[in-house]
Amino acid sequence: MKPRRIPLPLLALCLLVPVAAITLGCNKQQTPSEASAEVKPAAATNAMAAPAASPAPANSTSTAPKPDINGTHAMQYVKEIVAIGSRPPGSPGHAKVEQYILSKLKGVDVEQDKFTAQTPIGKFPINNIIAKFPGRKDGIIVVAGHYDTNYPLPKAYVGANDGGSSTALLLALADQFRGKELDGYSVWLVWTDGEEAFVKWTDSDSLYGTKHLAQKWQQDGTAKKVKAFILVDMIGDADLDIQEETNSTPWLSELVYQAATNLGYQSHFYQFKAGIEDDHLPFLRIGVPAVDIIDLDYGYNNVFHHTVQDTLDKLSPQSLAISGDVVLEAIRLVNARQ
Ligand SMILES: [Zn+2]
Repeated sequence: MKPRRIPLPLLALCLLVPVAAITLGCNKQQTPSEASAEVKPAAATNAMAAPAASPAPANSTSTAPKPDINGTHAMQYVKEIVAIGSRPPGSPGHAKVEQYILSKLKGVDVEQDKFTAQTPIGKFPINNIIAKFPGRKDGIIVVAGHYDTNYPLPKAYVGANDGGSSTALLLALADQFRGKELDGYSVWLVWTDGEEAFVKWTDSDSLYGTKHLAQKWQQDGTAKKVKAFILVDMIGDADLDIQEETNSTPWLSELVYQAATNLGYQSHFYQFKAGIEDDHLPFLRIGVPAVDIIDLDYGYNNVFHHTVQDTLDKLSPQSLAISGDVVLEAIRLVNARQ
C-alpha cells in the first residue's frame, strides 16, 4: 500500500498544472487505444527501444554498457516473478522470489542485509539484496527497486508492476553489468524489501528495508560514497508516464530528464509533478542524492495500483526497455559529472 505516497489524488494534481499539461497528461489516460494497451510483440521492442538520438560519448565509461536494455528479456523476468504469486514478507512467495533473484546473480558479489522488522502485526524477516559491480572510480551509484508485494492482500494479487517490474528491471541491469569492469563509479543494484506497509502507510509502517539500510550505510560510511541513489518503481506500465517526483534531489531529477531527452524518451517523463513517498526518502534524509523514477499513474486515475488488476497485460517490454535505458544513460551522466 502506498496511498499516502501521493498527497493529492492524481485528478487534483492535474488541476494544479497548466491547461496544456492537463490535455497532454490527464486526457491521455482516457484514450481507449492506450487504456487497453497490451504486450507488444518482440519485434516491436527493438524498434521502440532504439534510442532516437545517440548519446554523446563520455570520457571514461568505455566499458560501461550502452543504453540497450532488452525489453523482451526484462518482460520474461516479470512473467517468472508474477508466476510465483503474492510476495509479501514472511510468505512462501517472498522466499521464492528471494531465491529467484539470488539464482540470477551467480558469480556476482552479493550482500544480503537481513534483519527482523517490528510491524503493527508482528515481527517479520526483511532482506535487502545488494549486488555489487566494481568500478575504477572511488564512489558508488546505487540503482534500487523493491521486490516485496503488499501485505496482506488476496492471493490473486501478483503485483506485476508494483514489485514485479522493479525486480525484473534490476535483473536486466545486472545482465548488463555482469563480467564487466566499469571505468566509472561502482554500481550497486539493491532489491529492497519491506517497502510496502503491513497495515496502512505511515512513516513507521513503510520503507522497512531502506530505513534499515540507510542507517547501516550512515554508520559504516557507505552513505558518503554514494554519488547517486536512483530508485525505480512501477516502471513497466504500458502507458509509461514518469512523474517529476518533487522530494527527489533537484540536480539528479534534472539529470534523469536529461538522460531521457538524450535518448528521445522525454515524452514519457515529467508531464506533471507529484510528491511521492518511496524508498528514496530514507537516503534523502541522510544526505544522499536520490531520485524516484516512478509512474504512479497506473490505469485511469491509478485504478490498477494495489489491486488484483495489477497484472502482466498492463505492462509492456517497451516501457521496461525505456526505463532501463534511461537508468543506464543516467549512470553515464553521473559519471561524466564533475
Ligand atoms: Zn505498492
